[in-house]
Amino acid sequence: MLDYYKLGQIVNRYANVALQKNTANFIIAKHVKAENFGWKHHDELMKEFYNLRKLLDEGKIALKDLKKPEFSLLDLKIKLTEKTMKSCNLCERKCGVNRLLGEVGVCKVGNNSLISSEFIHMGEEYYISPSHTIFFMGCNFFCQFCQNWSISQWFERGFYVAEEKLAKLIEERRRFSLNVNFVGGEPTPNLLFILKTLKHCSVNIPIIWNSNFYMSKNTMKILDGIVDMYLSDFKFGNDYCAERLSKVKSYFKICSRNHLIAAKNGEITIRHLVLPNHINCCSKPILKWIAKNLKDKAIVNIMSQYMPQYKAKNYPEINRTVSHEEMKEVIEYAETLELNYIT
Ligand code: SF4
Repeated sequence: MLDYYKLGQIVNRYANVALQKNTANFIIAKHVKAENFGWKHHDELMKEFYNLRKLLDEGKIALKDLKKPEFSLLDLKIKLTEKTMKSCNLCERKCGVNRLLGEVGVCKVGNNSLISSEFIHMGEEYYISPSHTIFFMGCNFFCQFCQNWSISQWFERGFYVAEEKLAKLIEERRRFSLNVNFVGGEPTPNLLFILKTLKHCSVNIPIIWNSNFYMSKNTMKILDGIVDMYLSDFKFGNDYCAERLSKVKSYFKICSRNHLIAAKNGEITIRHLVLPNHINCCSKPILKWIAKNLKDKAIVNIMSQYMPQYKAKNYPEINRTVSHEEMKEVIEYAETLELNYIT
């Protein structure tokens, strides 16, 4: 079970940014000068980014004394995202379509991002609420039980908000929110729009990346130095269940790889929605993997609120809510593993 001491350790920097004691990653990225458009240059600049962040965190330099370069690490990340979208491999679907020309792949997000809603969310984990949550249209998964199916599968039309306008909204809502929380659907196909929005945003606010964690390695690199807290949705403990219920391949290898990268680059909360009849194949293997790889680095939210929605009725084993006995079994297992979990 998570105690306050562990919470403070695991999400220390996020909390400091939320309380305005430290500077958000994307603001620091705006102060690192970039000179060309290459990946190699990007990787070198990331070392500079972390050196600068350390000096700022230790109070050895002040942000107000730094000049903003004409072309920054954030601008370079925008260019690299555009490059990645020309033959889109923002996620491991690797559709190869030219998103900049408006072509669409599996996620059906073209060259414009659309928003379903944005509001101050009071029901997220207690240490991130109130959270300014922005729901993007479209998803790279086809979860048959999706709790947000009208957004992820385009049953809604969504609406367009210019990046400058969304940045202003983030600035205004900062008075009432601890963070800005990019979700969907899935934020990954909307990465370019998110980065361009942050370019226009000057308020110090932690960035939360609320995702299914099917990002490509390129996307993981771009997120490094932008995201302050990763909020993952670790659903399946094996590839068979992932392919059957979310129509996605190589799930466990990709999702676990990205968890390791995210925990190295930032702070992480892992959400696991317990599915009925998936305790031994999914819940337990996931918790076991976390205990082995990220025990003291991650907070695990074991979620019981599953409802059979969307196409769940076609899969008899998930066509009901989770039983009290199932939740008890999962929580007792998390206890045995000594995880830092909340429910
Ligand atoms: S972001 Fe969309 S278009 Fe790009 S690879 Fe993923 S599913 Fe395909």
